[in-house]
Amino acid sequence: MLIASPYIIVQQSVLANHNVLSVILLHMDEKLKRQLGTDLILIRNEPVSRFCLDCNETLNHSSFSVPWKKEKSWGEYGYREKVKLFKCENCDTVALEKSQWWTDNDEWGDEEGRGNNMNRKGDLILNYPSSLSTDEIALLPKVQPFLNDEQYDFLKDVLAAKSQKMDGLAAIGFRSLFEHFFNICGTNSSRDRFVSEAAKMDVGTSKAKNEYKYKLQWLSHQGVITKKQSEELLDLIKEANKSAHKMQTDGKDLNVAIEALLSLTLAAKRQPDLFEKHK
Ligand SMILES: [Zn+2]
Repeated sequence: MLIASPYIIVQQSVLANHNVLSVILLHMDEKLKRQLGTDLILIRNEPVSRFCLDCNETLNHSSFSVPWKKEKSWGEYGYREKVKLFKCENCDTVALEKSQWWTDNDEWGDEEGRGNNMNRKGDLILNYPSSLSTDEIALLPKVQPFLNDEQYDFLKDVLAAKSQKMDGLAAIGFRSLFEHFFNICGTNSSRDRFVSEAAKMDVGTSKAKNEYKYKLQWLSHQGVITKKQSEELLDLIKEANKSAHKMQTDGKDLNVAIEALLSLTLAAKRQPDLFEKHK
C-alpha cells in the first residue's frame, strides 16, 4: 500500500466546512500538532477528474490534501511543499502529487518570469504513480495498436517515469519504444540495407549498423519522424547515458519523444503499408 503512515481521513460529513479546519491547523503550534496527531489528518477536497492508468480512462477521483505546507531545507535551499492524494472512484488506486516551491523563487521570482507569485504552480511537481499530460492521454490509444499488451504496459511505465521526473529512465524507455518502431517499419531487407549503408558512410564500416543513430535515421528516411526529431531523440539518449547515475537529465525536453511518437502514428495512417507486418 502506498500510504504507510496512519493517516486519518476526515470525511466531508464530519467537517461542515473543511476550510475552517485548515485555518485552525495552519495556525497551530507545531508541537501541539504532533501531540494531538493533527499532523496526520488528511483534508477531503472537491473531487477532481484525472486520468487513471489502471482504468485507462479519465475518471472522477476523490481528492485529499495535507492541510499545510511545511518549511523544509535541502542543503542551503529552503522550500515548502504540499502533498495531495487522489483516489480513483472506480478502482480505488491512489495517486500522490507532491509540489515543491523554492523559497528563493517566493522572494525573487524564477527564470520563467512567473514572479514571486505565491499562488504559482509548484516549481517542482512529482507524481506517483503518474499524472499524464493531455497530449500523453491522447497519444495512448493511438500508439496502442502497434504494441502488444506487455509493450503497452511498458509505454505506461515510461510515461510514469517521465511524470515522476525520472528523466533519464524515461529517456531510456523511449529509446526502447523507438527501437520497436524501427523493427516494425518497412521490410527486413530494406531496413537492413539502409542501416548498413548509413553506418558505412558514417564510420567506414557496416559493423556499427545496430547503433540507435542509424535506426532513427531509418525512421526519418521513411518519413515517419522528421530529421529534426531524429536528432533530438538522439540527443535525449546521449544526455540520459551521460547522467545515468543520477537518473535525471539536464534541461532536455522529453516532450520531443511524445511529439515523435505522435508523428509516427500519423505517418502510419498516411502509409498503412509501412507498418503492415507489425503484428
Ligand atoms: Zn481507476
